[in-house]
Formats: sequence, structure tokens, C-alpha cells
Amino acid sequence: MIDSKHLDTLAAIVGRENLYSDKAHLIAYSYDATRERFEADAVVFPRHEQDVSDILRYCNTHLINVVPRGAGSGFTGGALPSRGGIVLGFEKHMNKILEIDMQNMVAVVQPGVINKDLQRAVEAVGLFYPPDPASQEYSTIGGNVNENAGGMRAAKYGITKDYVMAIRAVRPNGDIIKAGKRTIKDVAGYNIAGILIASEGTLAVTTEVTLKLLSKPKMTKTAMGIFGSVKEAMEAVYKTMAGGVTPVAMEFLDNLTIRAVEQTFHKGLPVDAGAILVTDVDGNLEEDLNLQLSIIEKIFRENGCSEFKIARDAKEAADLWFARRNASPSLSVYGSKKLNEDVTVPRSALPELLERFYAIADKYQIKIPCFGHTGDGNVHTNVMVDGKDPEQVKIAYQAIEEVFQATIDLGGTLSGEHGIGLAKAPYMHMAFTPEEMALFQDIKRAFDPNNILNPFKMGLV
Ligand SMILES: Cc1cc2nc3c(=O)[nH]c(=O)nc-3n(C[C@H](O)[C@H](O)[C@H](O)COP(=O)(O)OP(=O)(O)OC[C@H]3O[C@@H](n4cnc5c(N)ncnc54)[C@H](O)[C@@H]3O)c2cc1C
Repeated sequence: MIDSKHLDTLAAIVGRENLYSDKAHLIAYSYDATRERFEADAVVFPRHEQDVSDILRYCNTHLINVVPRGAGSGFTGGALPSRGGIVLGFEKHMNKILEIDMQNMVAVVQPGVINKDLQRAVEAVGLFYPPDPASQEYSTIGGNVNENAGGMRAAKYGITKDYVMAIRAVRPNGDIIKAGKRTIKDVAGYNIAGILIASEGTLAVTTEVTLKLLSKPKMTKTAMGIFGSVKEAMEAVYKTMAGGVTPVAMEFLDNLTIRAVEQTFHKGLPVDAGAILVTDVDGNLEEDLNLQLSIIEKIFRENGCSEFKIARDAKEAADLWFARRNASPSLSVYGSKKLNEDVTVPRSALPELLERFYAIADKYQIKIPCFGHTGDGNVHTNVMVDGKDPEQVKIAYQAIEEVFQATIDLGGTLSGEHGIGLAKAPYMHMAFTPEEMALFQDIKRAFDPNNILNPFKMGLV
């Protein structure tokens, strides 16, 4: 518990109306998208960067833990105040789009800006901010940068890191730093912005982000391929991506996922299909889009696609996307507990990765439905068991460890987008050597020697 005199001092920095320690606020800020819950001692809403600096300097001196928080939509516990202290929220004051620079195609935003609000604002002037996590209606740019969020358009347009040009941030000692510039090229000094991206609020508090924008493509078309087996679909994914066309999205559902969506929504999906791929292409000319789709259809058909449908209008496109968009909630038909991972491998390893996952499912006699962003090599792997059965839950965690091992063996990563936080911290030793973990620890210490900023996350001690 933080001494009340510390809360009084913090309230004096931000104003009494911007610090809350009542039970309702503590509960409201104790969650994220995991089922874990930890209450902070107070929730504080800085009005501007100088407040962040003053708060951090005070907390660093008095060894008070600080946890920055966006919308709390993270899947790995990054925003949870697992060791008490204060939560810093940006949604009340630091939530403005500061500038859209049309000449340089750049936006400057505060951390509390909601992703979709930024997309709408730049699209209104003909520009485009591609990273579109499925949480785009509520997740914040601060959270997106600190998790390096991806989205449906990543296959063509990349992920958050590909758009971050500069970050203003505050170190735990209160120092305000600016990393990066509004320039296409910048090779002066260490790439500090690169270190801050995906650092899950463990190194510095992000106070402003400068983001690269693109021109908005004029049109998009959607198509769907139905495959007899997952292996054929996965072969089609990497061959398409290397085949002279770059689809915006290349999303996948396996047979178990197709069946779950059908059982839940009765849409007439092909329940005997081994897998479905849904793909989008975009551009400015109809002929260009048709050419892209013809290349995709050819490669799909050469790899076992029995049916290729192209949406004729927005409604048909939404129908083709329906199963993918509703995949995650439908999986509850297989069990009350879902261990949902977001492992990622080089795309050519996808066929073997999926084979290994189904072998793990067979070994433990459980269901592991998979779907996801296969254009990025990113598979949402869902180990489903009965949450009320402790034996099943134990088996699920054993299976997850084997899922991670298979991924690592194939040159992949524990997380393509959801980060490590608390949930995946126990597995970091599988993916990194002791020397690599020691380097992470040294970087943490260089930014935060007193370990006050989001401590004990990402497997750090
Ligand atoms: C339904 C659903 C769908 C999702 N889909 C996707 C998806 O498609 N792609 C994807 O990548 N993720 C997805 N996510 C996960 C999540 O939305 C992302 O990780 C998102 O980037 C988190 O943003 P947030 O604002 O909620 O951040 P939070 O969850 O609040 O925080 C995430 C991390 O960022 C840190 N942080 C937040 N703000 C700051 C700051 N100003 N300074 C320093 N650190 C900060 C926090 O400490 C924490 O470690 C999904 C989540 C849900 C619930």
C-alpha cells in the first residue's frame, strides 16, 4: 500500500480531480483482456508530458511502481498493476491528434488516441494509417506502440513498428527524451525508438508518437479459397506471398474453426473443407486488382483449392469475411477454457507447424483449432479444454509448452503481436539464451535502475 502522503503529493502534481483511489476506479483499472486482476493503489491521469515527468521523478525517488495503461485490451497482462503502485491513464487528457502533416504524410498523436479515430481522421483527408488490430475501435496508439500491434492488413502493409518515425517518452527518472525524427532517413545515434517499440511499458512512458502515413488505396476486393487440407492451404499461402502478388490480407481458418463458426452461426460454411483462406487485394485500378486476384487464384488452384469465390460487392465481401471475424468467440463450443497463443513462424514453415500442432492435439486427445494471419506466418493457436476439470487444465498447459517448442524449433517466435507481459513470461527461457535474457535485463536497468516502471513483466526480474 502506498502511504497516503505520497498520494497527496501525486494529487498536488496532477490536480486532485486527476487522481482516484476509490474502490470503483481501482476495480475498473484492475483488468485487461486476460482473466487476471490486480488492483493498483491509485489511478492517475496526467494532463501533459510534464506531469508524466514529475510523477515518474517522484515515484522513482520513493520507489513507487508505475504501470502505464492504454485501453487495457492487451492479451498478456502488460497493463496490469501486478505489484501495486499507480496506473497511469491517458484517455482523459493525453488523447489528442496533435497534427496531420499533409506535405510529409505524417501524424503526431498523444498516447491515448484510439487507433480507429486516427484511421478515420487521416482517411478524411485522403491518407491512410494501415495498422488495424481487431481491437482498433478501442485500443490506443500508446498500447499499439508498446505491444507493436499488428492487424488484418499486415501481410502487405506491415505492423505498428513500420509506421513509427519518432517517439517522445519519459524515463523513470523523469528525463524527457525524443527518439527518431520526421524524416524518412535517420541513422544518427542508437535506434532508441526501435527499443521502445514492443517494450510493453517497461522502459519509458510514451507521451507522443509521430507516425508515417500512406496514400489511401482507392479500392479493395475480397476472395475466398476452399482447400481439402490445411497442408495444401499453408503451401498456397507462402507460394502466393512469394509469387509476384502481395495481398493486403491472407487469413486462414482450419476445419475445427470452420465447424465451430458453422455450429454457432449456421451460415452454410463448407464444414468438410480442410481449410479456408480469405484474402484481400487493394490498389487504384480495377484491372490491377483483377490481375492480382487471377495470380492468387492460379496459385491457390495449383495447390489444391477446389473453389475460389470473388466477392462482387461489399455485402458479399462481408459474407466472405464473416467466418474469419467470428472465429475466436465461436471456439467456445470446444470448451470453457481457451489458451489462445499468437505464435509466428517464417511462412514456409506453416505446413509443418500446423502438422505439429495437430500431433500435439492427438497426443493429449484435446482440440487445438487454429486460425489467423497466415500471410504474416502468424497462427492463433487455441488449446481448448474444460476449465472446470483441473486435469484438463494441466494438460492444456503441457500442450502449450509443446506448441511453443514446435514454434521455436521452426525458427518462430512466442508472440507475433500480443506480447509477453505476465502470461508468457514463464516461457521466455525457451526462446532466449541466458546471455540474451541478461542483455534484456541490462537494457531494463539502463532505463529503469530502480525497477519501478511496469516491473516483473516480460520475464524480467
Ligand atoms: C478482441 C481483441 C482483439 C485484438 N486483436 C488484436 C490484433 O488484431 N492485433 C494485435 O496486435 N493485438 C490485438 N489485440 C491485443 C491488444 O488490443 C493490443 O495489444 C493493443 O495494442 C493494446 O492496446 P491498449 O491500448 O489496450 O493497451 P493496454 O492493453 O492498456 O497496454 C498494453 C501494453 O502497453 C503499455 N502501454 C500502454 N500505453 C503506454 C504508454 N503511453 N507508455 C508506455 N507503455 C504503455 C502497457 O503498460 C502494456 O504493457 C486484441 C485484443 C482484443 C481484446
